[in-house]
Amino acid sequence: MGSFDIERIRQDFPILHQQVNGKPLVYLDNAATTQKPVAVLDAVNRYYREINSNVHRGAHRLSDLATREFEAARDTVQRFINAPHSHEIIWTRGTTESINLVAQAFGRNSFRPGDEILISAMEHHSNIVPWQILAQQTGAQLKVIPVHADAELDMEAFSRLLSERTRLVSVVHVSNALGTVNPVREIVRQAHEVGARVLLDGAQATPHWNVDVQTLDCDFYAFSGHKVFGPTGIGVLYGRTELLEQMAPYQAGGEMIEKVSFSGTTYNTLPYKFEAGTPHIAGAIGLAAAIDYLAQFDREQLLAHEQRLLEATLERAGADPQIQLIGRARDRASVFSFLLEGAHPNDVGTLLDQQGIAVRTGHHCAMPIMDQFNIPGTVRASFAFYNTLDEVERLFAGLEKCKTFLL
Ligand code: PLP
Repeated sequence: MGSFDIERIRQDFPILHQQVNGKPLVYLDNAATTQKPVAVLDAVNRYYREINSNVHRGAHRLSDLATREFEAARDTVQRFINAPHSHEIIWTRGTTESINLVAQAFGRNSFRPGDEILISAMEHHSNIVPWQILAQQTGAQLKVIPVHADAELDMEAFSRLLSERTRLVSVVHVSNALGTVNPVREIVRQAHEVGARVLLDGAQATPHWNVDVQTLDCDFYAFSGHKVFGPTGIGVLYGRTELLEQMAPYQAGGEMIEKVSFSGTTYNTLPYKFEAGTPHIAGAIGLAAAIDYLAQFDREQLLAHEQRLLEATLERAGADPQIQLIGRARDRASVFSFLLEGAHPNDVGTLLDQQGIAVRTGHHCAMPIMDQFNIPGTVRASFAFYNTLDEVERLFAGLEKCKTFLL
């Protein structure tokens, strides 16, 4: 277990060492996507330079090597989230596709009018719209767990909304817009009591700590490679074997079949039944490299560092009456969502960018929760373990400059 040395860690991320708009880059948009360590860049590069080949098909050496690395990457993900079986790891393009897969392959053929799907008011659009479409397709009803003004989930309302009509609860593990960490174990426990299945959107949890799907006891878990220091275009859906076995294919084509004839087709075994077409082989290998990179650290230590950054940020923000904090959950990830009183978030973002500070502004693909707070959006600074206290200082110095221009 390596010790925590922030300067050494930053050396692993070449992109951080550049000037943007004439200033040293301060990258605080990690909830949108994280940066990649050299280990990931090298793994992707080596794959294309040395073994690029299609998987599961060729009768030649390179194809065999590519297949082995691709399947080894699946095993790495299995260990990363402690899934019982490697065939429960389905490669997707990302969290969005993982959720759509569950909606269509799990819900479309089995949900009926009168069935209910429960989501929360703080969901990302990718955990709202697939269920709206499914509701239209099946006649099932979409119900929404409200969120308190402090950005915590209303667990009493959740308990009331649960019933034997609830087929699926799909909630975010960590909110990208507010930072709220939801009590997902309790959600799973209560949902299972009424016989409902649970999907957890783990896009913002996996970047911060080691998720254990067996401890969580969830039925499905979705996350994206690019938010966990891996490549874009690769993601994961974990599903319980018995559910994946029952589910219809999501997309159809090569790889997902066992035998095709014009009189009928039989489907491949898990996980290939859900992996039609040539997969993102380099992406899977790159994601495994990211997971291996993380494995050298004590992730508790990395999380503690992020929490120190968050605490320092909240302390600075709390002392500034012109900063309005959006989201005050007790249990929260290193996301600082805020408004500078009297300034539009986009203007703040532009002025920070001019100072080399990258943040995200807008509704963060979570329009309903922005509507609830009656705001068009926020400025969001989100930290990863490679950020520093010095960068927190740069952010607040940057905000002082914004004030002189905007207020
Ligand atoms: N869910 C949450 C909570 C997110 O933050 C995001 C991305 O921002 C997504 C889902 C969608 O992830 P992707 O765009 O990688 O599919």
